[in-house]
Amino acid sequence: MRPDGLIAEYGGGTTTMKLNIAVLPGDGVGPEVTREAVRVLRAVAEHCGYDFRFEESPIGGGASVNFGSPFPPQSRERCLASDAVLLGAVGGPQFDTLSAELRPEAGLLALRYCLGCFANLRPAIAYESIADCSPLRRERILGTNIMMVRELLGGLYFSEPRALDAASKSAWNTMRYSEEEIERVARVAFKLAEGRAKKLVSVDKANVLETSRLWRQVVTRVATEFPAVSLEHALVDSFAMNVITNPTRYDVVLTENLFGDILSDETSVIAGSLGMLPSASIGGKVDLYEPIHGSAPDIAGKGIANPIGAIGSAAMLLRYSAKLPVEADCVEAAIEAALKSGMRTADLLPPAERAKASSTEQIGKRIAELTVEALKSRAAHSAV
Ligand code: NAD
Repeated sequence: MRPDGLIAEYGGGTTTMKLNIAVLPGDGVGPEVTREAVRVLRAVAEHCGYDFRFEESPIGGGASVNFGSPFPPQSRERCLASDAVLLGAVGGPQFDTLSAELRPEAGLLALRYCLGCFANLRPAIAYESIADCSPLRRERILGTNIMMVRELLGGLYFSEPRALDAASKSAWNTMRYSEEEIERVARVAFKLAEGRAKKLVSVDKANVLETSRLWRQVVTRVATEFPAVSLEHALVDSFAMNVITNPTRYDVVLTENLFGDILSDETSVIAGSLGMLPSASIGGKVDLYEPIHGSAPDIAGKGIANPIGAIGSAAMLLRYSAKLPVEADCVEAAIEAALKSGMRTADLLPPAERAKASSTEQIGKRIAELTVEALKSRAAHSAV
């Protein structure tokens, strides 16, 4: 169980050197990228003398086929008994004919629901060495480092009543938020902003929606607890335009579930490839770490998937669940160094140059080595 994740970390706590990590590789490229994330975590543990234990469990379409459930009870128990969960991805066309309760996505929702994580953190960083991979102009994105904080358990996706009503030929969903739901995710965002550039923009639709008006009131109230952080409110429609035309202006972005779903995919183009993006879902019983991409069935089994999103998720695990910020920094520095050295998976290369691409495993191994080098260099500097 999570003794003290980000929520407690920012309120103080102790460093955890022992960690039980539930690994859910899932379907498609999930096992390929997760293997590399585990490789990097093992390298950190080995170098620093930490006791990280990894236990694999099934999830997704493969779990449905082999165990009769996309999130079998034994996986649930293992996740709930762990300190952190590392997930690959689920899904694939071969599972499209399964019944609704056996669909891979049902397993993912069951996992998120059982962990109870209410804050989804998605960084969007423009790495200089791959800035040309983004469809946005290089000079526009350079320097971008956004942390998107999306509320994950409320709003339109979960509120009742909801229905698709054949008799009346209509359908409806409900957007509902309580003050408590807004407060808890706002605190996570403000705490993150305190440790970054101290700027927070809260995105809503307060000119139209009552839930957004409540959102704005509560966020404004929570802001008084964080006087060092400047707060700006933005309407979702204009923000969607501004974040892509002027992304360097933003630091932490806080928003509700639906807006966050859409905006975090929008900001993902800044990084240049879906394979680059990590995420953390925190605040529940156990925190969950996963790359934002899906199972990429078109490239699964070829050993060419980009593992950086998964490895970046492992870095977030080190930072928020293991509370090892130096080690997390070293993994992130290793990612940057690998890219700077010219290593690229195929998704980061133009079609004509893809023959030069490194494999998933080559990138994973190199990042593991560079992480250890970064750890050694940190230790040498702190010894001076
Ligand atoms: P996807 O993210 O799997 O793939 C979209 C495109 O990005 C593909 O061209 C793919 O090759 C590429 N891509 C994705 N990850 C990559 C990586 N690590 N390296 C290089 N290229 C990568 O999205 P999709 O094709 O819409 O969905 C495929 C399956 O994944 C579906 O079954 C969907 O439901 C599922 N899915 C799962 C999750 C999840 O597990 N969290 C998220 C999204 C989609």
